[in-house]
Amino acid sequence: MAEGPPTTPDPLARMLGDIRACRRCADDLPCGPRPVVQAAASARLCIVGQAPGRKVHETGIPWDDASGRRLRDWLGLTPAAFYDPAKVAIIPMGFCYPGKAGSGDNPPRPECAPLWHGGLMALLPDIGLTVLVGHYAQAWYLGRGRKATLAETVRAWRDYLPSGFLPMPHPSPRNQPWLVKNPWFEANLVPHVQAAVRALYL
Ligand code: SF4
Repeated sequence: MAEGPPTTPDPLARMLGDIRACRRCADDLPCGPRPVVQAAASARLCIVGQAPGRKVHETGIPWDDASGRRLRDWLGLTPAAFYDPAKVAIIPMGFCYPGKAGSGDNPPRPECAPLWHGGLMALLPDIGLTVLVGHYAQAWYLGRGRKATLAETVRAWRDYLPSGFLPMPHPSPRNQPWLVKNPWFEANLVPHVQAAVRALYL
């Protein structure tokens, strides 16, 4: 049977291939590059997190840890919906595990978001809501629109919703003291978060 003409990957597939092949800051990654990203052009919800942790670096599955379980609870999403790229894009501020620093991890590599985020977001035209998890994502996407503290920014979530952004704290167990200090988040705001996600008809 004759072979058809070679197929050209669509721009998003090409972009994801380029990201997965990226070695830009390899010399600064103690465990080496392993970009972790999930996206499809039809995605309605975008989750912008910090950077993969050690466990995610090993499995290559985003949010495959205690933080991810809590995040899925907050969003009201089953693992099946969360890991469906046709519904949910998962785009950390740094795609590769940045290594350990003290009791936590290093910040996301500063090269990563400037290099990839603009181009990748431009290829996701159906995103209706972008959840900004933690202060790195909020700093990048809200810029000077951020409040003085993460708690104030999260409390002001209604201000950002018309622009399609929803700031949230990081769901890491290391962030438990913040959640204890700010019980309003889980008691009052999480139901609104779940309603906003349900409104996307995921
Ligand atoms: S962290 Fe980002 S810029 Fe650095 S190697 Fe990974 S994908 Fe490339």
